[in-house]
Amino acid sequence: MQVKILGSAAGGAFPQWNCACANCRAVRAGAFNGKPRTQTQVAITEDNVLWFLLGASPDLRAQIEATPELHPQRGLRHSPITGIALANADLDHVLGLLLLRELQPLRIHATASVRRILREDNSMFGMLHRIPDQAAWTDFEAGKEFSLCDAQGQDSGIRCRAWSLSDHYPAYVTAERQSQLSSGEASLGFFITSTSRARLAYMPAVPKIDEALLADLDSCDVLLYDGTFWSNTELMNAKGDGGNGPTARQMGHVPVVETLVELAGVRRPRKIFLHINNTNPMLDEASPQYCAVRDAGWEIAEDGWQFTL
Ligand SMILES: [Zn+2]
Repeated sequence: MQVKILGSAAGGAFPQWNCACANCRAVRAGAFNGKPRTQTQVAITEDNVLWFLLGASPDLRAQIEATPELHPQRGLRHSPITGIALANADLDHVLGLLLLRELQPLRIHATASVRRILREDNSMFGMLHRIPDQAAWTDFEAGKEFSLCDAQGQDSGIRCRAWSLSDHYPAYVTAERQSQLSSGEASLGFFITSTSRARLAYMPAVPKIDEALLADLDSCDVLLYDGTFWSNTELMNAKGDGGNGPTARQMGHVPVVETLVELAGVRRPRKIFLHINNTNPMLDEASPQYCAVRDAGWEIAEDGWQFTL
């Protein structure tokens, strides 16, 4: 299985349009010891022909153009992208679906809850259904393994199991709708198994870590893991108001400084942080936080990284 990291930043990307934090100012000034990043997007393939997206980021158009494997390969209208697996209904994770609306056949794997939010409450997603052979939706359930299938329903051989991580739905989902949804389908991570039995964990938003999750993570070959915030008070610190604003944990992210401790015993997989917020000091490769992450054996994902599993 080929894995490509098309984007590695959290929502808003790096730099973020309305952010003047130290990192964003430095990268705009060309004085940053690190790289700008687009919003988190991962693509996988088993045969180098048909590609599957994990989520669909708002930066998907530019990410596709930066990735020759995802350019049209045959005919006037074509895309190697054949399917998408959705882990949640966050805008950063689903807006890219609207960029894929050009009458392309696609299969969208999602929980019933996420499908209902997008299709029943947000009429724009009807643009994926203007003709019969456009988007096909396949429901999956948390905890049960399913196959990633192409637009025509053919099994790719890639197996996927969703892990329920949070009962927190996006703020745009009304209270009435939330009362009709399964709380276990709000925010998921994926354990993905290739045809060669290699295992990838995709966990961009981990609100808490328990023993069961640790055991499953330790059975993987590669982790793509929540690197959103360095510390619990990072956003407050960036604003400089000394106390207002949500903490990392309130936003559904165990901070990196705690993850380094909690996952210290997870030794089997290659460990890669992604979904990194623009305020995170570890983006600065001259920072002590960057050194601490590297010394702990973790890597910090960059746009364009690729590896084979
Ligand atoms: Zn910033």
